[in-house]
Amino acid sequence: MSFKSGHHFLQIPGPTNIPFRVLRAIDQPTMDHRGPDFSAFASGLLERLKLVFKTKNPVIIYPSSGTGAWEAAMVNTLSPGDKVLTFETGQFMHLWRDLCRRIGLEPIVEGDDWRTGVIIEDAKATLEKDTNHEIKAVCMVHNETATGVVSDVHAMRKAMDEAGHPALLLVDTISSLGSLDYRHDEWGVDVTIAGSQKGLMMPAGLSFNAMSDKALEANKSAKMPRCYWDWQDMLKNNNGGFFPYTPATNLLFGLDEAMDMLFEEGLDNVYARHARLAEATRRAVRGWGLETVCSGNGIPSPSITAAFMPEGHDADAFRKIVLERFDMSLGGGLARLQGKAFRIGHLGSFNELMLCGTLSGVEMGLEIAGIPFTKGGLDAAMSFLAKTESKAGKAAAAE
Ligand SMILES: *Cc1c(COP(=O)(O)O)cnc(C)c1O
Repeated sequence: MSFKSGHHFLQIPGPTNIPFRVLRAIDQPTMDHRGPDFSAFASGLLERLKLVFKTKNPVIIYPSSGTGAWEAAMVNTLSPGDKVLTFETGQFMHLWRDLCRRIGLEPIVEGDDWRTGVIIEDAKATLEKDTNHEIKAVCMVHNETATGVVSDVHAMRKAMDEAGHPALLLVDTISSLGSLDYRHDEWGVDVTIAGSQKGLMMPAGLSFNAMSDKALEANKSAKMPRCYWDWQDMLKNNNGGFFPYTPATNLLFGLDEAMDMLFEEGLDNVYARHARLAEATRRAVRGWGLETVCSGNGIPSPSITAAFMPEGHDADAFRKIVLERFDMSLGGGLARLQGKAFRIGHLGSFNELMLCGTLSGVEMGLEIAGIPFTKGGLDAAMSFLAKTESKAGKAAAAE
């Protein structure tokens, strides 16, 4: 690798930039995970973690990437052959459904639109038709990282209640927790699935399950085979500040520091910051004359923006130029969007000038790649940022 001065711009939508405070917190000698110091530390950490998910119930931490927390949610609440309702909203929902199939569940697929998110009325109609209650769980991705489209979790809960359907509501918040407003208890979510490497500003390697009383009840009769992911082993050990197997001790130190940072800023301010930087990004995209993957009817994501390349131009060739010339990594289009769209991650440890650097790299890259675009996207974003302040309740208010 040739030497590159300054810092790399990592603007993929996860893993995200790790703040120095978190890096320093991880850089500690190993602690005995069966000793009293660890138990005191982990007990406090587990208690505080509930505040991030907004739940009074326990949150389980696995030493795995987010995919593990998907599997954990399924094997702890369901039985072989159970039907689960899923939506074709993007690549992550696609992968989650594939996992369901491979572990012996029967996913039903609804919709085939990567630009609008879950259509709640359609889901409600499907649940109303399921009078025998064969569907045991509804699975949705809160923030689809492949498309930059949000689905309304609270509205899904209301629709399920109105349909009088007893299915569990399982939600992937891997790219939304710590970036978008999220309320596990208030929104009636049964299992929340999360990961450490996106809004939580951590390396990959920790994943989470938050659970409702109803999910804990379902756990008692769930027949999927499980060992490593078993909630009961975790809950029993977590009670004393311990884990059933070796926890990722140093990542837990980092998580503790990351939570300090989130609470020092204030969660509402964190959400407002993401919403404002996302709005600035969308103004840039429109200013360039490009189209976002999130269509008019979709809820645009506060943490990632995906934009289409003009017809006949390759998004991956453009990203290669940006990487080589400006040392910036942008996200590529996934699966059906490969080569057609690129993604700008604007989540985690991130601020206005980092966004301006990112957008200027995109604008220069568009020029070098010979892509037909209008200059002025960066200007549009800067004007918006100059006119607005990031404070909870005030984000974008000055418009
Ligand atoms: C990143 C991501 C995942 C995948 O998580 P891994 O940590 O790579 O296993 C799943 N769902 C969403 C929404 C994501 O953004």
